[in-house]
Amino acid sequence: MSPAFDPLRYRADFPLLSRRVHDKPLIYFDNANTAQKPRAVIAAVEEYYRDYNANVARAVHSLGEQATAAYEGTRDKLAAFLNAGGRDQIVFTSGTTQAINLVAYSFALPRLQPGDEILVTQMEHHANIVPWQLVAGRSGATVRAAPIDDDGVLSLDRFEALLSSRVKLAAVAHVSNVIGTANPVAAIAKLCRARGIPLLVDGSQACPHQRVDLQAIGCDFYAMTGHKLFGPTGTGALWARREHLQAMPPFFGGGEMIRTVSFDGTVFADPPHKFEAGTPNIAGFIGLGAAIDYVQGVGLDRIQAYETELLAYATAALDSVPGLRLFGRAPHKAAVLSFLIEGVHAHDLATLVDHEGVALRSGHHCAHPLMQRFGVPATARASLAFYNTRDEVDAFIIALDKVRRLLA
Ligand code: PMP
Repeated sequence: MSPAFDPLRYRADFPLLSRRVHDKPLIYFDNANTAQKPRAVIAAVEEYYRDYNANVARAVHSLGEQATAAYEGTRDKLAAFLNAGGRDQIVFTSGTTQAINLVAYSFALPRLQPGDEILVTQMEHHANIVPWQLVAGRSGATVRAAPIDDDGVLSLDRFEALLSSRVKLAAVAHVSNVIGTANPVAAIAKLCRARGIPLLVDGSQACPHQRVDLQAIGCDFYAMTGHKLFGPTGTGALWARREHLQAMPPFFGGGEMIRTVSFDGTVFADPPHKFEAGTPNIAGFIGLGAAIDYVQGVGLDRIQAYETELLAYATAALDSVPGLRLFGRAPHKAAVLSFLIEGVHAHDLATLVDHEGVALRSGHHCAHPLMQRFGVPATARASLAFYNTRDEVDAFIIALDKVRRLLA
């Protein structure tokens, strides 16, 4: 474990982490579902509503200007955080799901012809499958999936072999929400670019755990979610290459996305505002700005180093539990541990460890095809963050052992 990294120091910044559940100290291992919020984020949201609640972009009064500056400030922070190139390339969305749907309807659908293909992988979240199926259904295209091996690793050779001239778009998770695999997205982007195939990367699970450098990755689209990055729910973004944003028609129409409107026609605003119709989640994005400041204060490289150590510790601990099967052993992975214990249903397991204070997720994790790949209906999943500790892993293993003795 990195001696310089003290998770207890950061835990103190998250009020919720000190609460109890079923009279036991909370062990929050459901960070891939949504992460907890530091005091700075809660304060930023509260401060907005208390001190300068106003709509953005349309008011010249002081409150409106203050709200707009704070809200737009998050765009600058996110652009810097992702090494985005320009703030105009950051489109605010309600999360990864909306970001991917925007690309599906606005970019992909007008370009798809019968017989075309969209290439994804077997480890995708439904948010990176279903939107492509919807636009494929409308256009006569099909969605194909590149296979993963038993360790949950995507074979680049197999992926490359599927990149035929029929493929009009590829969409790949940066990090899997179920098995933690961190895909080599820069190498994938290189393969796609060599063939002129646009690549979308689903960065939902990557941003909280590793430094994301969009200039280095070289993809066409990158989708992220704020609530997994310790920010408020209902926030996220789509990053895209400028030429795509300029070429894409708007997805939603309404206020704030136009330059002029008449009954003869509408002239749209420039990106990113062209894609941001209506009043946004102002408080949420102001909170996201605070979350980015917070995470940068901790340091993504330090977070990644610490979580890698914690993952190794947790993996060894889970491997010591009799009858436990761990899904996903990629050499490069985030601290996400999906597992089953022989003879125990994932839901029963999660329910019983909850009584010991441990919050896990159980189910298909919005990844039916991945469950099918491993031949199971569901798994239990522990997903860790930098505020989790070895002591919590130890307590979790004791709770698991109790459940196993009870049920297995
Ligand atoms: N992709 C991945 C890999 C995810 O883990 C999630 C959230 N579980 C999503 C997409 C969807 O994110 P959201 O629901 O925040 O839009």
